[in-house]
Amino acid sequence: MSADPVDWKDRFSEFVTGSINSDGEQKGYCPLHEDPATSKTPSASFNWKSHLFFCFGGCRGYDFKTLWKVVLEDRGDLDTSRPDNNVRDIGTAKSAAGKPS
Ligand SMILES: [Zn+2]
Repeated sequence: MSADPVDWKDRFSEFVTGSINSDGEQKGYCPLHEDPATSKTPSASFNWKSHLFFCFGGCRGYDFKTLWKVVLEDRGDLDTSRPDNNVRDIGTAKSAAGKPS
């Protein structure tokens, strides 16, 4: 049983990647400047013990509560204003060909 009523791992599950190290840290994509769907270079770290986030790409550190607020605000924008020029036709995507050309 956790004393924390918020399941942070669940909330940030779409951003993290890899496994949690012995310090309780896990690498992940920065919700502030990276899109997990398109980025291939996770530059942030989530610490599940201290509930602290740090972006090595320049956004610096936030506690999870502050970061989550930004994520929610960001989502409101992303859903309606995704630029068309970032969307590739599925037929030209590398994943559709099975392997990188
Ligand atoms: Zn960042």
